Amino acid sequence: MKSHGEQTKNTVVDVTKIYNGIVGEINLDFNLDIEDGTTGDYVFEEAPHVKAKIFEKARGRNENESYVALSIEVTGDYTCLCARCAKEVANHLCVSAEYGITRRLSEDSDEYVEAPDGLLDVGELARMLFYLELPQRVLCKEECKGLCPVCGTDLNLSTCSCKQVKKGNGLEDLKKLLDNYEEK
Ligand SMILES: [Zn+2]
Ligand SMILES: [Zn+2]
Repeated sequence: MKSHGEQTKNTVVDVTKIYNGIVGEINLDFNLDIEDGTTGDYVFEEAPHVKAKIFEKARGRNENESYVALSIEVTGDYTCLCARCAKEVANHLCVSAEYGITRRLSEDSDEYVEAPDGLLDVGELARMLFYLELPQRVLCKEECKGLCPVCGTDLNLSTCSCKQVKKGNGLEDLKKLLDNYEEK
């Protein structure tokens, strides 16, 4: 995998610097480390890129009142195979999110992330977000007709003479047949 630009570096951020007013915000810009560029059926020619900003969203009188937030964006280009016709598809992934940062989470949360001892591992969060947001399956186009399950013909390109059973319409077809039968 090519990994140009900034290499993956230490992505653990000391959030207390913001709580203590030493810095106003911390910016991170790094490549996400994914093993040899592949993840399941997805191939990344270049490592996905992460941009993150940790900033004070609202100032309190003391640390417990300050609201510090993380905004994060993960982007990347990948190729994979169409789930229906197995054609190679090039796709772009772009995930962004914002979280409040808290020292300790009492329960799982979608809105807050935990920074134990004031340390936040942005790389780990980015990785989690990345794997969470990779699509379950990708189609070359919404209306991809797929391959004939009998002879393997790409039905986007041509037709075959195999008997086609339409998926999902089985019950409806049966109902129509019965309706016709009853009318006669
Ligand atoms: Zn397809
Ligand atoms: Zn066929």
